[in-house]
Amino acid sequence: MKQAFQYKLLPNTNQRQEIDRWLDMLKAQYNYLLADRFNWWQYNRSDCVIPQGEFCQIACSVGSQVLRNNPDWHSQSASLPQLKKDRPWYKDIYSQVLQDCVKRVKKAMNRYIQGDSKGKRSGRPRFKSKNRYRTFTYPQAKNDWLAGNRIKLPKLGLIKYICHRPIQEGFQVKTASVTKKADGYYLTLIVEDKSVTDFQPDLVPTEDNSLAIDLGLEKLYFDSNGNYVLPQKHLRKSEEKLAKLQRKLADTNRSRKAKKLIRRAIAKLHQKIARQREQWHHEEAKKLCQKAEAIFIEDLKIANLRRKNKRKKVDNKYLENGQSRKAGLNKSFSDCALAKFVKILEHQAQKLGSKIIKINPKNTSQYCWNCLNKVPKSLSDRWHNCEYCHESIDRDFNSSLLLKKVGLGVVSL
Ligand SMILES: [Zn+2]
Repeated sequence: MKQAFQYKLLPNTNQRQEIDRWLDMLKAQYNYLLADRFNWWQYNRSDCVIPQGEFCQIACSVGSQVLRNNPDWHSQSASLPQLKKDRPWYKDIYSQVLQDCVKRVKKAMNRYIQGDSKGKRSGRPRFKSKNRYRTFTYPQAKNDWLAGNRIKLPKLGLIKYICHRPIQEGFQVKTASVTKKADGYYLTLIVEDKSVTDFQPDLVPTEDNSLAIDLGLEKLYFDSNGNYVLPQKHLRKSEEKLAKLQRKLADTNRSRKAKKLIRRAIAKLHQKIARQREQWHHEEAKKLCQKAEAIFIEDLKIANLRRKNKRKKVDNKYLENGQSRKAGLNKSFSDCALAKFVKILEHQAQKLGSKIIKINPKNTSQYCWNCLNKVPKSLSDRWHNCEYCHESIDRDFNSSLLLKKVGLGVVSL
């Protein structure tokens, strides 16, 4: 079983400067290697289509570039010794950290060209600005790097950290990453205990040991026992504070130094909101996992829900597409962070030995759980009134009860 622990690092001034310098150099190297990859495509590929519908095979490179093989992880790693000769300051970075930078380029390109294990492709990788390159990784960390409240990172030396949770016996430290955040530096350790396998409980859900939850914006969830949790809306609560800071930032009379401080305050506020939300999600997920052994949830595609409305153009004019109204809804989706809650729920379930079962949510809001007749509703109808069996309950409650029935295999929609 693998776990990640994060600790606050307390580097001294020299170490802080060194970490910043490394991040800056790695960022430059990352951008250079990424550009190298893009350039190869630029110079060795042709978009012209020959009649058979295939791409024209190009045999020589366009422009003054010499024809060469597609740069990959091997060729880019092999270029590192030359880099250290041309730019000797790169010798200051620990070699494996530099190699890990090459690996990041490879990962980004693979996700762009081939996609992940499910074939879902990401967008074109971005060149990173200073604020977007914040982490470097030691891919082969050892247990003996840690001693008390200090960690010995190669080429950076002994760095103090707040050890609020010691690594337990039997855990092997795999990797160590240093991250720069809004409020300082953090150390993330990935640890593995090989004696504990990834626990997948082998239980059959029954009426008594299972629970279904219906996720939503008005209520974080409504479970099939009739309990619900209202959203905390951390972002909405801090919105006023955030707006005040952003107004200050927009004020052109302020100095550059003052603006830097305001920007830092904004970043810290966002960090606080994210942490409040995460803490709350963990608490709620833990409570749920303690209630039932099997939990049915809807298999929602939340990224699809918060997509922008499509724009339609007629006679050179854009039609009203309701995006301004949708924007408020999107903000609520982000504030609730349902996808994150599902992830945290799965994590807690694994820890506490419960099982999360995802169910296709199709039609679960449109049928009555009691008599299974169709009761059509729009999104704004919040109450379920069945004209056949006279059931009158909250719409989300109806969905969760029906979800449980579908999950247990009693009915299929
Ligand atoms: Zn009914």
